[in-house]
Amino acid sequence: MISKPRGTNDILPSEVYKWHHIENAFRTICAEFGFEEIRTPAFEYTKLFKRGVGETTDIVQKEMFNVIPNVKIREIQGDEQSVASFNRYLEKEGMTLKPEGTAPVVRAFVENKLHGQGSMHKYYYVTPCFRHERPQAGRMRAFHQFGIEIFGSVSAISDAEVIALGATFIERMGLKAVELRINSIGCKACRPVYDKALSAFLEPKLPRLCETCNDRFSKNPMRILDCKNPSCQEEVQGAPVMLDYLCESCESHFSEVQNMLTGMKIEFIVDSGIVRGLDYYTKTAFEFISRDIGSQATVCGGGRYDGLIEEVGGPETPGVGFGMGMERLLLTMEQTRVEIPKPNYVDLFILNLGETAKAPALMLAQALRNEGIKVELDHLERSMKAQFKYANKIEVPYVIVLGEEEVRKKAFALKEMKTGTQVDYKMDEIKKIAAQIKAVE
Ligand code: ATP
Ligand code: MG
Repeated sequence: MISKPRGTNDILPSEVYKWHHIENAFRTICAEFGFEEIRTPAFEYTKLFKRGVGETTDIVQKEMFNVIPNVKIREIQGDEQSVASFNRYLEKEGMTLKPEGTAPVVRAFVENKLHGQGSMHKYYYVTPCFRHERPQAGRMRAFHQFGIEIFGSVSAISDAEVIALGATFIERMGLKAVELRINSIGCKACRPVYDKALSAFLEPKLPRLCETCNDRFSKNPMRILDCKNPSCQEEVQGAPVMLDYLCESCESHFSEVQNMLTGMKIEFIVDSGIVRGLDYYTKTAFEFISRDIGSQATVCGGGRYDGLIEEVGGPETPGVGFGMGMERLLLTMEQTRVEIPKPNYVDLFILNLGETAKAPALMLAQALRNEGIKVELDHLERSMKAQFKYANKIEVPYVIVLGEEEVRKKAFALKEMKTGTQVDYKMDEIKKIAAQIKAVE
């Protein structure tokens, strides 16, 4: 027996309806808001994530799953200067499994010159993601994200609409105890001033901060505020907050976003601690945080990233979006006992008895499936009793029994399992049968 790798999960047929429920609702809401789906490969060049996610993030510093093709391994093993050659390879052509959804979407946007096709662009994605983290509840090595991006608008309307989609979706998922926390992390103009003040505050604390934070200090000191290390969190208490340093443009953008949210009756809390994991974020940063699921409480994170598209080689284009973790959303729903509607496995089970009933049962099943009815039939020549037992087990709402006599008469009864009511039909009354089954759906 070979087991699944640590931090991964099988989604079994008995659970998959929950995923369909979430995915369908997400696709529906994206369509309502005018977002179009975009799909990108499962892996990208490592350099995309280094640039598009940022060298100072946990993702790039610690969590990336790199992809090394077999030929490369053989080449390196046969090479005297293997380490140097391997490093050169990684630098230039190394590939990494997608750790998040945004950078690949930006890459596809730039590479396919979608910016030439209009001035504003709204995309959504649903994708598996991979991060080498310490597995725990709500923190997996293989997980799923869905998210949205708006490219091309600097307006606060875009920030507000992105947040509104997230809030509406979470509400539709039946989650109540989820808080929206928003912040502004400034822009090219005001961030450097803040970074200076923050650096001055942090410098004397460097010996007590972790190695990663020390590394971040010169590159992006704000990231230190987001460190998960409890002792680092302790040290940053009382640090200067970005909100006190916002320039006029960031200040007014932030208050516009807040006014729009208030106008849409979306509740939020301003939290200067929301600095988000990724570099190149500007202005608005937000998270949806569950009050129910302990330490992995962030269900959704997002914000504005006006520098990202340029960073990935595209024309200067503003962007705003969010990414939501499917497993975490589901965990929150389960912990707060949100009832997820379970669809019928099938609508109808055809019991067939004896050799002569097999072909007619198959034909009947096919005809009804073409009318949109979900049909299963016995393949195993089980006894009538065993077939009924199975029909009960799968909780099918309707059954038809096809035996020798039914086949000869070209007629049978459609039985409703819950009530026991039977209605007689001729073999060719397909549309009528379908209509009766559909009527109760
Ligand atoms: P965290 O602070 O929990 O590590 P993050 O800042 O790394 O989150 P993002 O990169 O913003 O998270 O990803 C967006 C969302 O994806 C998160 O809010 C979370 O719901 C989900 N997510 C991130 N990492 C994982 C993981 N390892 N397993 C499951 N879901 C995850
Ligand atoms: Mg993380």
